[in-house]
Amino acid sequence: MRIGAHVDSADPLAEATARGAEAVQFFLTDPQGYKSPKPREDAERLRASEVDVYIHAPYIINVATLNNRIRIPSRKLLMAHAKAAAELGAKGLIVHGGHVGAGADLDAGFANWKKAFEYAENDGGLPLPVLIENTAGGDNACARRFDALARLWEAVGPFGAGFCLDTCHAYAGGEDLVGIVDRVKSITGRIDLVHANDSKGGFDSGQDRHDNLGSGKIDPELVVAAIRASGAPAIVETPGGVEGQAADIALLRERAGV
Ligand SMILES: [Zn+2]
Repeated sequence: MRIGAHVDSADPLAEATARGAEAVQFFLTDPQGYKSPKPREDAERLRASEVDVYIHAPYIINVATLNNRIRIPSRKLLMAHAKAAAELGAKGLIVHGGHVGAGADLDAGFANWKKAFEYAENDGGLPLPVLIENTAGGDNACARRFDALARLWEAVGPFGAGFCLDTCHAYAGGEDLVGIVDRVKSITGRIDLVHANDSKGGFDSGQDRHDNLGSGKIDPELVVAAIRASGAPAIVETPGGVEGQAADIALLRERAGV
C-alpha cells in the first residue's frame, strides 16, 4: 500500500523525501487557470523515480457543463494535461466529476462526459488513466451523490474511466463512509486512488474543506478502513505543509499496518 501527499509542483521528489512519501500528486499549472502544461526539466527524474506520480487536473475543468465556453476548453485542457502527465510517467490524472448549472438536466452532464472521452479517443486516445474524483458540493454535481455517480458510470465506464475516492468529499457530500468502498465498487468496479482527507465541514455540509486526519469531523479509522478495503494507494491532501502531511502519512501507515 503506497501512501503519499499532494505537494508543491516545484520539486515534487524533494517534497516526497521530506514527508517520507511513496507517492506524490501535484498540479502542472495554476489549478484555477486554463494554461496548458509546459515540458518539465525534471521529467526524466520523475519517470525514473521509485516515487509514484499522480497529476491533478486544474479545478476549473468542467467537461460536464452545458456552457460551451467552459466545456470545449475543458476537454482540450484535460487532454493536454493527460499528455503532459504521461510524459512524466504518471500513474493517473485526477479530475473532478464536474457539474451542470442550476436547473439543468444532469443527464446532459453525463452525455457531455461521454463526449469528452470520445473527444480523447479521436485525439489519439488517453495516454494514461483518467481518474474521476467524487466532489463535496453542489446540487447538480455528477459525482457527489452515488445515485448520480451510478448514472455517470453508465456513460464513462465503457471508456475505462478510473475512480478516485476522496474521503472528505464523500463525507461532506453526504455519503456514509461506513462500507463506502463496497458501495463505490458496486458502481464503478474499481477504486484507483484514495484521497485520504479529514473534513472541517460536517456530514452532508457540502463544504470542501480538508483537514488533517483526526483533527476534523471524520473518525480516522474510517479513512484507514477505506484505504484497506480499496487496496488502492492513498494521497493526503491535507494542510500543515511537511509537518502536517508527514504526520498524516505516519498515522495512516501505523494504523493500516503498512
Ligand atoms: Zn481530493
